[in-house]
Amino acid sequence: MVEGHRQDMTKRTATCRCGQLIATCTGEPIRVSVCHCRACQKRSGSAFAVQARWPHDQVELTGAFHEWTRVGESGKPATFRFCPTCGATLTFASASMPDFTAVPVGAFADPAFPPPRFSVYEESMHPWTRVKGEDVEHRD
Ligand SMILES: [Zn+2]
Ligand SMILES: [Zn+2]
Repeated sequence: MVEGHRQDMTKRTATCRCGQLIATCTGEPIRVSVCHCRACQKRSGSAFAVQARWPHDQVELTGAFHEWTRVGESGKPATFRFCPTCGATLTFASASMPDFTAVPVGAFADPAFPPPRFSVYEESMHPWTRVKGEDVEHRD
């Protein structure tokens, strides 16, 4: 394997609320984004969702989970893995980005987590929200 390459890489740990389901993410995320779509509002229980993505093999999930697949407005399915005890979603994979696993940034509970560079589905954005930063790409 690529031992020398991987061993110094950052590891971050996301957990569900009760703590039994753990996602260990190796290396920097390839994309951190805010999504304002209505489905992400439902999933997160908030006005918008923030998620980070890594290649599948850089996210290791340990613990018990249930899976649920939802077909989005785009017609593409996304599969969510969540804790059967506390219900928190810890990872999801979407057919629109098939090579990557997404982890909700809130599951890291780390204010030092890299900020989002993308703000998408702004057409359904709550008007009092805004993603700050000069290098943020905004999309409807
Ligand atoms: Zn849990
Ligand atoms: Zn969304």
